[in-house]
Parts: sequence; C-alpha cells; structure tokens
Amino acid sequence: MNEKTLIEAALFAAEKHRLQRRKSLLSIPYINHPLAVCYILAQSGISSINVLVAALLHDTIEDTETSPDEIANLFGNEVLKIVLEVTDDKTLNDKKRKELQVIKAPQLSQGAKLLKIADKISNLKDILTHPMDWSNKRKKDYFLWSKQVFDGCKGINPQLDKLFEETYNEGIEKLSSLPD
Ligand code: ZN
Repeated sequence: MNEKTLIEAALFAAEKHRLQRRKSLLSIPYINHPLAVCYILAQSGISSINVLVAALLHDTIEDTETSPDEIANLFGNEVLKIVLEVTDDKTLNDKKRKELQVIKAPQLSQGAKLLKIADKISNLKDILTHPMDWSNKRKKDYFLWSKQVFDGCKGINPQLDKLFEETYNEGIEKLSSLPD
C-alpha cells in the first residue's frame, strides 16, 4: 500500500505545516515545498517509499511541533532515521547550522543524501522563481553554500545530480548578471 502511505504522509505534513508560509513574498503555503521535494525525487526515478515519505515529512520535526515518536509510530523507524538525518539542530545559530550541513553531508545515508539534494534543488528553484526580499548577494551566497552541500551528497543518482547542476548553473548565471 505505498500509495496510501504516501498520501497519509502528505496529509500529515499538510496538517503540521498548515499555519506556515514559504519565505517568498507570495505567501505560498509551506506544504508546496515538501510536495515539490518528493516530486523531484520521483521525477529522478527514485522509488524507495521510505525516501519519498521522508521527503514529505522532512521539515516537520525541524519546523513544527512534531515529535520523533509520532513519525516512528505512524511511518516507521527507517523513515524517522532519514528525517532526523536532514533535521538541523535549531538550538544552533544559522551560520553554525549551515557549516554543519556541509561537514555532515558526506556521512549521510544514501536516502538522506538524495533527499538533501532534492531539498536544495527545490529551494534554489524557489529563489529563482518567486519574488523574495533577499539581496542578490544573499541569493548568490545561498547558491554557493547549497553547492557545497551538494558536493558532499552527489554520486548516487545521475539524473538528480544533473537536475541540481542545471538548476545551479542557470541560477548562478542569472544572479551573476545582476548587481549585488
Ligand atoms: Zn526543506
């Protein structure tokens, strides 16, 4: 019953993120992001149900009142393990968390690496597509940092790697043509 589990995870995440919006000026519902990450993985031929479910749930522990037990009970320990691998420690400041993502990337499990890459692709696409009150420099810095995380995760799925590189190159080219 993979389809049922996927829909349950999407519903669970939609409920948990229901009051949140993405950082764009368009107030896009937060759930659009985990759905996009899950779709990017599926589009690249990734069919592991645990990875796809973890993609839908990947920001619930970090950004909502979701406990690890809730995820383990509803979706199992394998899914929880992947979600925890991609969850930042919110007690640390933004700079430290970004550093840790780069350092930890090569040690992640295969499923977590794939999820991390898809997460970054979704974020880069959002930065390029939606109006945001970020300076051009801040956007470029986010791209450069994402590339460092990607470098620690790549090499598992060529299609996913290619999608990251295309999105990254297109964005860097666009951002480099604009003033900081
Ligand atoms: Zn995310």
